[in-house]
Amino acid sequence: MAKVAQIKAGWNFDNSYLRLPEIFFTQIKPIPVRAPEMVIFNRSLAVSLGLNPDVLQGEAGAEVFAGNRLPAGAKPLAQAYGGHQFGYFTMLGDGRAHLLGEQITPDGRRFDLQLKGSGRTPYSRSGDGRATLGPMLREYIISEAMYALGVPTTRSLAVVRTGEGVRREKVLPGAVLCRVAAGHLRVGTFQFAATWGKFAELKALADYTLQRHFPEYKNEADCYLKLYEQVVDRQAKLIAKWQLVGFIHGVMNTDNMTISGETIDYGPCAFMDTYDPATVFSSIDHEGRYAYGNQPEIGGWNLARFAEALLPLFHTNQEQAVELAQEALDQYELLYKKYWLAGMRAKLGLFNTHEDDETLVVELLNLMEQYQVDYTNTFRALTLGETNSGKLFCSREFAAWRKLWQKRLQQQRETAEEVLSLMKRSNPAVIPRNYLVEEALAAAVEREDYSVMKNLLQILAAPFAYTAEQEKYAAPPLPSEVPYRTFCGT
Ligand code: AMP
Ligand code: MG
Repeated sequence: MAKVAQIKAGWNFDNSYLRLPEIFFTQIKPIPVRAPEMVIFNRSLAVSLGLNPDVLQGEAGAEVFAGNRLPAGAKPLAQAYGGHQFGYFTMLGDGRAHLLGEQITPDGRRFDLQLKGSGRTPYSRSGDGRATLGPMLREYIISEAMYALGVPTTRSLAVVRTGEGVRREKVLPGAVLCRVAAGHLRVGTFQFAATWGKFAELKALADYTLQRHFPEYKNEADCYLKLYEQVVDRQAKLIAKWQLVGFIHGVMNTDNMTISGETIDYGPCAFMDTYDPATVFSSIDHEGRYAYGNQPEIGGWNLARFAEALLPLFHTNQEQAVELAQEALDQYELLYKKYWLAGMRAKLGLFNTHEDDETLVVELLNLMEQYQVDYTNTFRALTLGETNSGKLFCSREFAAWRKLWQKRLQQQRETAEEVLSLMKRSNPAVIPRNYLVEEALAAAVEREDYSVMKNLLQILAAPFAYTAEQEKYAAPPLPSEVPYRTFCGT
């Protein structure tokens, strides 16, 4: 007799976080919602995780990604962590998120699956544990755009409407995002351990982190210093990439800095239009602490806080521990500069290195600031050789700069085609501009029209393609759309 095979969703969960000492989490289930409805589902990400998109994209997936039904093998928990928020240390934790567990992919990689907006936890403080549709779709769009831009990031698997209203300044549609990450460990997780845990608990967390993210160092005598050095390196690389694409995170608190080196927590973030290092988007960042031009330095500040948490693991003698930490932290600036300059060389089509390269780059950026031109589109125009019009390109200063650049391009063997190809790979033709994202969100939230967002996502999935279709998405905002502010009412 023929058998009816049950088509499997492809879950293959482990729950290694539960093997940490119990101060690091609370086991708790997502709180079910009234009427889950799938808004957007990331089929290609699902496939790469070993999941069956046909099983998960419909109602069954909506149930799972809303938190109403647990995937096989999931043992949900809320993570405990602390963090410096705008410079002040406090206890935090997942106040509206549940880690379902870790999906092991067919090729053996491990990814956290976390629901965001899935209900109250012991770490909710006065919050309602919920999230609204606009900000969850915003995280989906920007995180997927960052991924396509080659920036390490958490990713977005699905957004589900809950069928419930969420009270903010007004009542807004509720939603849950399913976020995928190589790991949700944060600098703030270590600060939590160092502040409220025992030495053994801090050590257990560090050992877990080594096993999970840096297994090649776990048996070395100075493995904890290696762990620190690796995070310094990853963050230097990450923040250099942010600067190169003009991304402003907006809330670089230590709880929003991952150990995995992925960008996390897309709240009041945005891409810069006109080049200005002082650009701030977050409406709550009054002092410009997290302005575009400050991001590299804040990265260093956060890493100093990370070192402080790890000190007891570096050496039993505190003075010596501080010395080791300082030496490792001092590398950050150098690494950052190295990654940034390498990225800038590529943006200018340079394959080899020359001692004057940094000056060449800085002079261009200064001109961009002086002439108030669009960051992305200036590099786009340089790539395409479209430099015959516009206030910057028509200036005498730019003509002088271009001569130096052309001369510099002569100092390498690569052909014009090779230069063009490098520049196209290094300068996105499109970014998720604020006004485009807002248009997509307005259509989705106000009219339940998801087509605008889906078209935008398709364009942003190949930012280096330079297709004709992308041209209209490359336009900078109209003057009336500036200045742009993102709000924390998420
Ligand atoms: P974020 O700014 O998203 O990094 O969040 C900072 C902290 O506030 C984290 O501990 C979040 O879990 C918590 N949080 C943010 N929104 C809510 C909410 N609506 N309910 C409960 N906790 C929240
Ligand atoms: Mg956060």
